[in-house]
Parts: sequence; structure tokens; C-alpha cells
Amino acid sequence: METIHHFINGSAQDGSGGRYADVYNPALGEPCARVALASGDDVNAAVAAASAAFPAWAATPPLARARVLFNYLQLCQRHTDEFAAMVVREHGKTFADAKGEVARGIEVVEFAVGIPQLLKGEFSDQIARGIDAWSMRQPLGVVAGITPFNFPVMVPMWMFPVAIACGNTFVLKPSERDPSASLLHAKLLKEAGLPDGVFNVVQGDKAAVDALLDHPDIQAVSFVGSTPIAEYIYARGSAAGKRVQALGGAKNHMVVMPDADMDMAVDALIGAAYGSAGERCMAISVAVAVGDAGDALVARLAERTRALKIADGMADGAEMGPVVTQAAKQRIEKLIGEGVEQGATLVVDGRGFKVPGRDNGFFVGGTLFDHVQPSMSIYREEIFGPVLCVVRQPDVGSALVLINRNEYGNGVAVFTRDGGVAREFVRQVQVGMVGVNVPLPVPMAFSSFGGWKKSLFGDHHAYGPEGVRFYTRHKAVMQRWPNTASSGAEFAFPQMK
Ligand code: NAD
Repeated sequence: METIHHFINGSAQDGSGGRYADVYNPALGEPCARVALASGDDVNAAVAAASAAFPAWAATPPLARARVLFNYLQLCQRHTDEFAAMVVREHGKTFADAKGEVARGIEVVEFAVGIPQLLKGEFSDQIARGIDAWSMRQPLGVVAGITPFNFPVMVPMWMFPVAIACGNTFVLKPSERDPSASLLHAKLLKEAGLPDGVFNVVQGDKAAVDALLDHPDIQAVSFVGSTPIAEYIYARGSAAGKRVQALGGAKNHMVVMPDADMDMAVDALIGAAYGSAGERCMAISVAVAVGDAGDALVARLAERTRALKIADGMADGAEMGPVVTQAAKQRIEKLIGEGVEQGATLVVDGRGFKVPGRDNGFFVGGTLFDHVQPSMSIYREEIFGPVLCVVRQPDVGSALVLINRNEYGNGVAVFTRDGGVAREFVRQVQVGMVGVNVPLPVPMAFSSFGGWKKSLFGDHHAYGPEGVRFYTRHKAVMQRWPNTASSGAEFAFPQMK
């Protein structure tokens, strides 16, 4: 069986960890590779390589850095199918969905090649007599990225293209569940002309993460994953003096007003709840049916949920694949059981779902609950599986109260034909990314991605302009060149003259 290694200083490295984890093909329910788990020494080696590469890379003109990324961008386009097939094999999502993930990652590279423009500072002439002021943004040094299983190509691309374009060097610790894509990134970056040591990969688990968080030479950490780990990363990384952005979990609501276009709302919910088997941080997991929208909505959702085409992600016409691990399947099925015990109406039950020819695959069928209450665990917990909960509310005001009380604040959507309702909803909702008749409002690469409340710890959102700010330090400069008429030393605090 293939062993997936680290990538340090421009080449694959076995590492000294001596520990390995199985990587599964979730559709088959069997291991397809094993991945090395880094030791502290492996992390030290990657950080040392990144530290050594930093001065020359930081001194490389931004346009030259952009040209390397431009080569990488073209290579990513050429290798899209290879990336996508890796994602299907180790994650389980459908091939079409995986290609979408690759495309959204490539968009961040397209943004990052504009780095000469993005790094431009400000200049103020004559802020006092004979003095000019200007600003510049400089790279931080070695930065690390720790990423989740659910977008093994795209989420690392939220981080390293921007970090590297800004002149930093990078250590990626991808999810140990689907680690192969990280090595294809490394290979293509090298082929694109990236100097050795600028981009490194350490495979691993908590041991590798903790070694990164504590390492004195790492200046900043970007994390995407579940909320408890995000909170931990933020606390430990900040305590070690690092800049940290830690994006966490979600419970995303979609409000369906009685005047909504029901065909559009049902299509949106089916795609956003069950696409990628619900394993998206922007997945809609709660439909809030307002007023008398509920009965018609649930009837139509039930029919569509039962008709989902669930199969191996490579199968023609597959709409949804398996979930990522046996443990995830068990956890999701346990939560479905709790929903029943706690009194929700189970309209479609996806437990025990089997795909012919894939008897051991980690499949969960599309599941639909109605009359879900906020006190139930299926409402409170991020299920991260193909389970949609319908909560009924009398009006948009109570829908807003429900959403604003939820501890997460990643994404939200409202479906209505009423512009006034939509406008007030957008203004009042305590959520970072909002869609109006758009179920998955994932910002484009030239905006920035981030939730509120327990969906993000730290100040900066990912990629886009916020990413450039996160990966650079602002420096303010004032300069005066001596002229022949010096006015002597000044002892009062400087002010404009
Ligand atoms: P996870 O938190 O289990 O793992 C994320 C990363 O943290 C992995 O690299 C993992 O190896 C590491 N890790 C896990 N346990 C750790 C520990 N105890 N100490 C240190 N490091 C640890 O998340 P996951 O299951 O891989 O991904 C799914 C989660 O990610 C969901 O909660 C989802 O909402 C979230 N997510 C959020 C966003 C966002 O933008 N907010 C995007 C994608 C995924």
C-alpha cells in the first residue's frame, strides 16, 4: 500500500515519526493508503527549511513571485482532474463537486497573482515641511496552515497562494484523512519554479499541530476546522505570541418566507443540504420555514430527499457520495437517533443506507427532520452529514431571533420575493456571510471568507484583501532628507508645522 510522506525543502521525506494512519476510500470502506504522522523533529525540519528560504523569497520582487504563481495556476488548471480524482478517492464527494472545489481554489491563485498591486502602500507628500510619509506591507516570515478534511484541495489554497505571494514561506499540515492533494500542490509549485523550502508539507495529527503552535520561528497560523479545535488553536497559538486566524464549525440556516419561489427554494435546499453529503462548512443544515411555508416545503423536500442519487463519487450521475469515515457515519446515525428520541418528526430516515456493490462504504442516506426544536441535539450540534432539520417559525422576526441566538455565525440565507424583508434580514442577522435567494454565499477570491461568533476566532477572514493583511505587517515610514537650513534639535513631541 502507498505511503504518503512529508514534503520538506523541495523533496519527499519519510520523516522520523514512526507512526502511520490509514487513509480510507470512503466509498469502498477500506484503506487505500497510509500516511506518515510527523514527529516534533519532522516539524522542526520543515520550519528550518522554511526559515532558511525566507530571506531570499521575501527579497524576490513581488512580480517575480507572481510569475511563479502564474505558472502554478496554469499547472493547476491542467491537473484539475487529477486533483479531483484524489479528492473523490480519499474524501468521497462526487467528481463534479470535487472539480468545483478545485476551481474555487484556483480562483484564489488568480487573485494572488495580482500581488504587486495588492502590496502597494500609501504615500503622503509633505505631511510637514520637508517630510513625506508612506506605508508598506512586509511579509511575516514562516507561517503555517492547518486544514480540515472536507476541502483537501481548496482550503489549503485559501492560505498558501496569498501567504507565498506576500513573501512568506509556508508549512502546511493537511488533514490526515485525505492528505494526497497536499503533495500534488507541492509537486506543482516546484514545477512552477518555487524555490525549495518556500512551501513544505508535514503530514500528521495533534502531535504535529502542537509542535507547530509552539514553534518559536512560526509567526502566524491559519486554521480551518471544527470549533473546539479552532478555539484551542487560537488560544495556544496566541499564547505563544503568534498571529492566528482560526475558522471553526457552523450551523447554517436558510429562511424560507411564504412568498419565496418554492421551486427555487427546494432546489437550493436539496443542493445545499445534501451536496458533499452535508460535509461543507457552508452546508445548510437548518431550513426555517416561516408562516405557512412549512407544509408544502416539507412535502416537496421529502420527495426530493428520497430520490437523491447516492453512489460512489465516480459513478455517473451521482449527486451525493459517502461520508468520510466509519466514525462519522456512526456519529451522524447516533444524532439521528437522538433527534427521534427528543421528539422531532423523522420524515426521511437515512440510517442503514446501502449502495449496491459498495456494501462496506460509509454511506448515510439523505435525512429530513420536521418540527425540530432549538433545544434538541440535532439543532444544537454541527452534524456535518446529510441531515436537514426543518424548524418552523411564525414570522421573520422570530426566525432572526433563532438564528442570532445560535452560537455559530458562518453562513445564512433568506429566500423571499420581498426586497424590504431581505434588506432588514441582511442588516440584522448576526452572521458573516449572507445569501439573498443564494443558498451558499461563499465569497469570491477577491472578497474574503469568514464567519462570526464561534465560526471564527481571530480578527482576519481568509483570502482576499483580509488574507493579504493577515500575512503582512504594516510599516509606517516618515522621511526627511537633510537640507542646508537645519533648525536644530526638537524636544517637544513632533507635530505638523
Ligand atoms: P477537525 O477540527 O477535526 O480537524 C481540522 C485539523 O485539525 C486537521 O488538520 C486535524 O489533524 C487537526 N486536529 C484535529 N484534532 C486536533 C487536536 N485535538 N489538536 C490539534 N489539532 C487537531 O475538523 P475536520 O473534521 O477535519 O473538518 C470538519 C470541520 O471543519 C467542521 O466543523 C467544519 O464546519 C469545519 N470547517 C470550517 C470551515 C470554515 O471556513 N469555517 C471550512 C471548512 C471546514
